[in-house]
Amino acid sequence: MKQVVVIGGGHAGIEAAHIAARMGMATTLLTMNLDQIGQMSCNPSIGGVGKGHMVRELDALGGAMGRLIDATGIHFRILNESRGVAVRGPRAQADKVKYRSAARRLLEHLPNLKLRQGMATAILWAGGTRGLRGVELLDGSVLPCDAVVVTSGTFLNGRILIGERRLEAGRAGEPASTHLADQLKALGLRNRRLKTGTSPRLARASIDFSRLEVQPGDDPPRPFSFFSREIPQPQVPCHIVHTTAETEAIVRENLPKSSLYGGHIEGVGPRYCPSIEDKFVKFPDKGRHQIFVEPESLETEEIYLAGLSTSMPPDVQLRMVRSLPGFKGAEILRPGYAIEYDSFDPLQLRRDLSVESLEGVWFAGQINGTTGYEEAAGQGLLAGLNAVRWLRGQEPVVLGRDQAYLGVMVDDLVTKGTDEPYRMLTARAEHRLGLACDVADARLLGVAREVGALTVGELALVEARIDRRERLRAQCDAAWVTQTSPFGSIAAAAGLRLDAGLALSDLLRRQHMGPAEADACLTLLAGWAEPQAGWNPAWERDLLLFDLRYAPYREREARLLEGHRAWDHVRIPADFRIEHLHGLSKEVLEKLALHRPETLGQASRIPGVTPAAVTLLHLHIHRSQ
Ligand code: FAD
Repeated sequence: MKQVVVIGGGHAGIEAAHIAARMGMATTLLTMNLDQIGQMSCNPSIGGVGKGHMVRELDALGGAMGRLIDATGIHFRILNESRGVAVRGPRAQADKVKYRSAARRLLEHLPNLKLRQGMATAILWAGGTRGLRGVELLDGSVLPCDAVVVTSGTFLNGRILIGERRLEAGRAGEPASTHLADQLKALGLRNRRLKTGTSPRLARASIDFSRLEVQPGDDPPRPFSFFSREIPQPQVPCHIVHTTAETEAIVRENLPKSSLYGGHIEGVGPRYCPSIEDKFVKFPDKGRHQIFVEPESLETEEIYLAGLSTSMPPDVQLRMVRSLPGFKGAEILRPGYAIEYDSFDPLQLRRDLSVESLEGVWFAGQINGTTGYEEAAGQGLLAGLNAVRWLRGQEPVVLGRDQAYLGVMVDDLVTKGTDEPYRMLTARAEHRLGLACDVADARLLGVAREVGALTVGELALVEARIDRRERLRAQCDAAWVTQTSPFGSIAAAAGLRLDAGLALSDLLRRQHMGPAEADACLTLLAGWAEPQAGWNPAWERDLLLFDLRYAPYREREARLLEGHRAWDHVRIPADFRIEHLHGLSKEVLEKLALHRPETLGQASRIPGVTPAAVTLLHLHIHRSQ
């Protein structure tokens, strides 16, 4: 029987093992410490704009993250609510302790999945890097397998830095993984050092919350997963505080002591999660910076300070923290720190996240140069799913950039690579009007069906919702509005004069028709408010209005897409000798040789490869066939 081994029990590893086992493959999740499965190394939260979109996409493809955060979340908020359906994103504060145990319980009860504690030291092949045999562990034992998904996070040659101190570690309290990192480098994979950092954790009782701004969660909280029925945990508020002139003075005066600024770190850091040192140095005119005060768990007294990531020595961290209003008596339970680690250039991966030069090996998560739980989870799911498909002799699943943020992320990684920790942003998606997170289930239904990622019951649920949306849309097209009809009265009350009759869908396109007016109209339609699993009338109304109002833009986008899609379907043969092509500039030839695009579409997205070069390449491919 074929076997998959997943190395790592972080967010990528959980998804890879979960989907592989769900697809019926015998799977083992190997990780250094079973008690740390699903550990949130940094912020105790999931989602946000772009990231939340990916969690919904994962969920639509049978992933675990959405269900886990719904089961353990203690503060839910939809971000960007007022900026429209396309770019709003769910975010939730997790009870970090419960998240870990929920993740472990989920995996422990999955048929086909075994958990194993141990450190992988090497991947074994029958000859060279062909004919995968298994994974060797530090204790000398071997886990036999036919495919390996490596999701080793920040652990490969990890080095923690606090002030001038440095320590070999994968993250606080856990060892670094050096053997595996060294083997992968010895096999010729290109690597680079990246870095990230985390904030100090404080004792709740040492903070004066009466001086902080309260940030309540949404009431009622909205689940991430399309399949969750409820949010079971009690909900608690978060708080906001701002740095002061004193905080800035302490940071500036101690910059030479920071690992980041004292010249002790060579790695490249995440642009979008800067340390507090970075914020004061790079944005000198900003004055003050916002810090979110977030509970880590209902079971502990630990508080996380989002926005105060630092690598200053502990005594300086304490002075910084105590300079915040309400934090005069604050006590640090765990100081913040920076970590530097090896990651591998994702240009060495195929579009299914398998490593080109290593047979039977997939990489997912931080090892590919990304940062964040959601980015890791998304790659984990796709790598696990594709490893199973490879073992079964099936075509890989490659999501399009117009199909999912997950598709955008993988395409960015394997086509352009990344020089700094990659984080998902809605701005990375050129087709974001079509990528609203609320319809991820509908967008990815075809893929979920083909892959067998959802149960029969889950598929039925998604299909019923899509069906109901389509019927609602047809009702809106069919309902006729006149001045004297009930719809007309609602329009008149909104200040809209109707000179001629029109379809209800056209009426709802008008800006006068806000949410309240739309609700009043929809209530007049048969069956609008009937209860149905996963059907929330307010969210469905927003989706309908978005759909109606943005239809012309979406159609224009769809026409544009047709051209791009055609290129994505032109495969560049694996034995195509790019270096011998005539008519292409040296720069383009070098880029093509480095990136080894699999399709013409991928080639067109490599920075520096011009449309003219792509046309010429197309011609060469055509001639060679
Ligand atoms: P991880 O969650 O790190 O999991 C790796 C897993 O692999 C672990 O279970 C480990 O035990 C296992 N493992 C490693 N090597 C081996 C081996 N040889 N054998 C067996 N098991 C192995 N993200 C942000 O978005 N913003 C931030 O500000 C941020 N700051 C961070 C600060 C710190 C200090 C750290 C450590 C991480 C930070 N992150 C941040 C990153 C975030 O934690 C990761 O992006 C995310 O957890 C990556 O998931 P992963 O599954 O790739 O790896």
